[in-house]
Amino acid sequence: MRTEKGKRGLKRIGIFLLIVSMLTLSAGCASDEAGGQAGTASLTTGTQEAGTRADETAAAGTQEAVQEEEETDVLVIGGGGAGMVSAIFAASEGAQVILVEKQGILGGNTVMAKGVFGCSASSYQIENGITATAEDQLANYLATYPSGDEDMLRILAEGTGPAADWLMDNGVEFEGVSGDFTLVPKNHSLGSMVTSACREQLDELGVDIRTNTRGTELLTDDSGAVIGAVVSTGDGEYTIYADSVIMATGGFSSNNEMVAEYDPQYAGLGFISSSGNTGDGHRMAEEIGAALVYMDVMKCNPFLYFDEETSSYTMLGTYANPGIVVNLDGQRIGNEHANYYFSPNIMALEDKTVYLIYNEESKGFLEAPDVGAAVCDSVEELARETGIDAEGLLSAIADFAVSAAAGEDEFGRTLFQTDLSEGPYYAVKLTPAMQGTFGGIWIDGETRALDTEGNVIPGLYAAGECAGDGLWGANPVPTDCVFGRIAGINAAAYAKNNS
Ligand SMILES: Cc1cc2nc3c(=O)[nH]c(=O)nc-3n(C[C@H](O)[C@H](O)[C@H](O)COP(=O)(O)OP(=O)(O)OC[C@H]3O[C@@H](n4cnc5c(N)ncnc54)[C@H](O)[C@@H]3O)c2cc1C
Repeated sequence: MRTEKGKRGLKRIGIFLLIVSMLTLSAGCASDEAGGQAGTASLTTGTQEAGTRADETAAAGTQEAVQEEEETDVLVIGGGGAGMVSAIFAASEGAQVILVEKQGILGGNTVMAKGVFGCSASSYQIENGITATAEDQLANYLATYPSGDEDMLRILAEGTGPAADWLMDNGVEFEGVSGDFTLVPKNHSLGSMVTSACREQLDELGVDIRTNTRGTELLTDDSGAVIGAVVSTGDGEYTIYADSVIMATGGFSSNNEMVAEYDPQYAGLGFISSSGNTGDGHRMAEEIGAALVYMDVMKCNPFLYFDEETSSYTMLGTYANPGIVVNLDGQRIGNEHANYYFSPNIMALEDKTVYLIYNEESKGFLEAPDVGAAVCDSVEELARETGIDAEGLLSAIADFAVSAAAGEDEFGRTLFQTDLSEGPYYAVKLTPAMQGTFGGIWIDGETRALDTEGNVIPGLYAAGECAGDGLWGANPVPTDCVFGRIAGINAAAYAKNNS
């Protein structure tokens, strides 16, 4: 931590311009320190490039000057969904806003989101005859996340409908509803549509966007209030003084050391999240006294196929998986519809080796049914091909048929798209990987950062995956919109009152 005295007194100080050559700037922009981690792999079903604009001044080498010390009303660190939305709302309140993003493009994990926008009472749902209210959505959240923070979940539930309407006003398109609480984005391109819509707004509002610029350290004054941050580029570091700072650096799912520290069962796993999500904001905030909470709330995606040759993951489909997952003895290990909560069942196995088994009839329920699959006419052949015990697998499939007829199995599964009684049969080896983390800087309902005693840290706000918001990872993109908006408005008001 660096403590600066009297930032207000430093306002209007002479600004030293450091002229950098196009050549050195381009060279600096070419490297992304976070992207070079060993043992990482990219998700073949969603890449960062999709739907975002290629960057930008810095990457093009057209930015001619970097200032050693600068000032602004609001500084946003991190250019994913939460950062972009908070910058938009801070700027809409009249604040001067700088947004720094360490990667060459905006979007982070947000641009990878594809298929689900959880919400209630949006105009789209009402027009399509869905009558569920925010109160109903809250009840649903509390049933799904019994340890979640009810006050925060209420803020989310009440904000999702207006957030969906706001996104639609800005060009995001939905093409259906799924159940009472889900909008289906057009072409399963939620993240890229949200990123493009936000980018347009940011440009219209004149937000100063600086990519390839990493926040490294928060600055505080003598009273402990946050007054800016040090940032670094390929060409060195400089200081941005700000009346308030919004931390929106995402989670730490792409930093396996941190993942292992907070949930050792996931030690050594790869990730399908943005390589920029390495917990920088958590560290910066902790260094100035912020409390980190809910740090073991993580989403590890179990339904992935890992291609050794291309070092890439393919998402097979998490929700309503039609098949069964068996170990090498052919035994099922839990409710396949537990989504991310299924991963611990795999991690508990000594060899961590499982296969997803499905048949011709059920493959249409998967996103990528043919990727990495062994296909055989009979169960016995499939067992031979994969090394799964044949008797065990035959018995698991027979038991599954009985459960399908009864409508429930011993693990509490109630959805059976098929009873798996007929071949051909498919088997895909699963390799779980980290998708997101949902613990971080403790915040209150105003998104103000709190210290370990629960006191507000003046001038610091947080939203999105880096926030310890008690939402348990419920509806992350809507969370970006709802809490990003709150952070932007409050940070702008704080800046106005404290400039
Ligand atoms: C494959 C996948 C599918 C998903 N599908 C869905 C879905 O269907 N529906 C849904 O609601 N959610 C989904 N999610 C989750 C959702 O996309 C994210 O949880 C959420 O959008 C995170 O937003 P964020 O702004 O907190 O973080 P991010 O979008 O990750 O943004 C954080 C940004 O901060 C930057 N950053 C980090 N450190 C620094 C630093 N020191 N200085 C400057 N910048 C920094 C990062 O580079 C990154 O760009 C999915 C996630 C993944 C990975």
